[in-house]
Amino acid sequence: MKIAILSQDASLYSTRRLREAGEERGHEMRVVNYLRCYMNITSHRPAIFYNGKALEDFDAVIPRIGASRTFYGTAVVRQFEVMGVFSTNESQAISRSRDKLRCLQILARDGIGLPVTGFAHATQDIDGLIETVGGAPLVIKLLEGTQGIGVVLAETYQAAKSVIEAFRGLDANILVQEYIKEAGGADLRCFVLAGKVIAAMKRQGAAGEFRSNLHRGGKAEPIKLTPEERSTAIRAAKAMGLRVAGVDLLRSNHGPVVMEVNSSPGLEGIETATGIDVAGKIIDYLDKNAAPGKTSGQLRRLADRDRIKY
Ligand code: ADP
Ligand code: MG
Repeated sequence: MKIAILSQDASLYSTRRLREAGEERGHEMRVVNYLRCYMNITSHRPAIFYNGKALEDFDAVIPRIGASRTFYGTAVVRQFEVMGVFSTNESQAISRSRDKLRCLQILARDGIGLPVTGFAHATQDIDGLIETVGGAPLVIKLLEGTQGIGVVLAETYQAAKSVIEAFRGLDANILVQEYIKEAGGADLRCFVLAGKVIAAMKRQGAAGEFRSNLHRGGKAEPIKLTPEERSTAIRAAKAMGLRVAGVDLLRSNHGPVVMEVNSSPGLEGIETATGIDVAGKIIDYLDKNAAPGKTSGQLRRLADRDRIKY
């Protein structure tokens, strides 16, 4: 097969591992910097160009779109879909997962356990917003933050109020969330591939830190999920329409709750912690399922469903 990895940097661990895993299995692997792609959008011959040449004959693409590049990155993935190229994750699903609020609304619709979460535009009724999630302590999050940056624990009502006012004063979109104290600064990363959890790790925040992100000094170890955790992770990935997803759960008093669903989950942390060849499993999945024209057709189906009837 001929597979493109859409990534800004060929030397990143995840990109490197996917390429190696593909080459080991005899596939032709190419790292394509999606920011340098340009597109010809016509209905008879849609094309993508890179370094002055058309990207042709790909059987599959693996998008590794950076959080700050969602707009252009998903446009490139969408163009591959229009050309009939199979993508591990489709553009729609990637866009959906990138907005924490949209993600939580979709999960809530499917009845998946979540921390109680509030969202507001105006700050006139901060008290009401704080009450929605049961008062302080509570967690305040920037809608499009990653790696723990933009996630704040407000221990008191006063702290919560001033942080919310400060963020809103900067016109930043935030959500307010019940603080799951019993999680003890740990979360579970469940790596889902095509409806199965193929690897899972527990991340524990550094001493005195409630955020478990590895980028914030958290430590990871392999973990055996309970059947409920496993099925929650699978349902969350499915609700988002993601074949490859990093589903983050917190262990709460009322069962597992989903914090977020990542559409380009990193491979370094999970492969190192578990010793599982996650990159290899992704390539094996493509080997079995990808072929030109085998996109799930989600793009077309959604368009049909959403079409206005006259
Ligand atoms: P990011 O996208 O920046 O990783 P997250 O929503 O995953 O943001 O939050 C970062 C970390 O903060 C989580 O991994 C978790 O350890 C902690 N955290 C986030 N929300 C809560 C919450 N409601 N209760 C307890 N801990 C939380
Ligand atoms: Mg996170």
